[in-house]
Amino acid sequence: MTLLSIDDLVVEHRTPGRPTVRAVAGVGLTVAKGEVVGLVGESGCGKSTLARAVCGLHPAAGGSITFDGRAVTPLGLRRRTLTGIQMVFQDPYSSLNPRRRAGDQIADGLRAGGGPGTPADLLERVGLPRDFAARHPHELSGGQRQRVAIARALAASPRLLIGDEPISSLDASAQSQVATLMRDLAVDSGAGLLFISHDLSVVRLIADRIAVMYLGKMVEVGATETVWNDPQHPYTQALLSAIPHPDALGNLPAELPGDVPDPADPPSGCRFHARCPHAMDVCGVREPDFGPAACWLHAPALP
Ligand code: SF4
Repeated sequence: MTLLSIDDLVVEHRTPGRPTVRAVAGVGLTVAKGEVVGLVGESGCGKSTLARAVCGLHPAAGGSITFDGRAVTPLGLRRRTLTGIQMVFQDPYSSLNPRRRAGDQIADGLRAGGGPGTPADLLERVGLPRDFAARHPHELSGGQRQRVAIARALAASPRLLIGDEPISSLDASAQSQVATLMRDLAVDSGAGLLFISHDLSVVRLIADRIAVMYLGKMVEVGATETVWNDPQHPYTQALLSAIPHPDALGNLPAELPGDVPDPADPPSGCRFHARCPHAMDVCGVREPDFGPAACWLHAPALP
């Protein structure tokens, strides 16, 4: 059953005196109940903007977002929708109130969502001691703070949990633990999880499907093992080949060639064409339609 449906979504950033940045430029994606979707791409590709639009924190300039059968718009948000979608942010140091005890912050979520249990119960669910409820954020490590943030999100009994780079500020040992915890908690409660990360290897561990974004566009979506073992889009292939795992000689792979273009002035045609080793004449002129991958290499015939 589809929980979240994003259709042809456009989100723009407008700053007076500066060109409009179309951070999300016609994106479609679904998340089903109990499904984990990993959204990956380099910094600045529009992943976080998309997540904020799903939460109603950023207005859509076009397209639609439907959650649990209701349209999500900033003006149309209702309390039920607000508590039904909970977000865990990148930086647990700034997302928690430094002056309030962990238990009090989790209690806010319980009051908002009417979820069962106590703050101590929720701390136990995320693998922390019950007496951490009395601690302030500065008394916790980064991984522990992120677990408190997850407990606060769960307290509202969400039907959709969104993690916006929730592991990128954690040390390596905490990253897979927190990612796996979010997956287990979401799936056990029957919620959906949209997990945003630039780390494809962690996403592979927890996601049922992987969606790949580049410069405001969705370029490939597929089952995790299919995308991992047989990526269709050159950008997905480049992301996978740049995962920093040393080879037998200890050498790291080369980084992705080139820089992400300015989203205020995106390239014509395929937005990846200036960095793509397979670029053809058509690529800089016409945007490829979305198929298994949004790439002219997979078109039935070239125009
Ligand atoms: Fe490369 Fe062309 Fe495919 Fe874009 S459409 S990814 S430039 S081959």
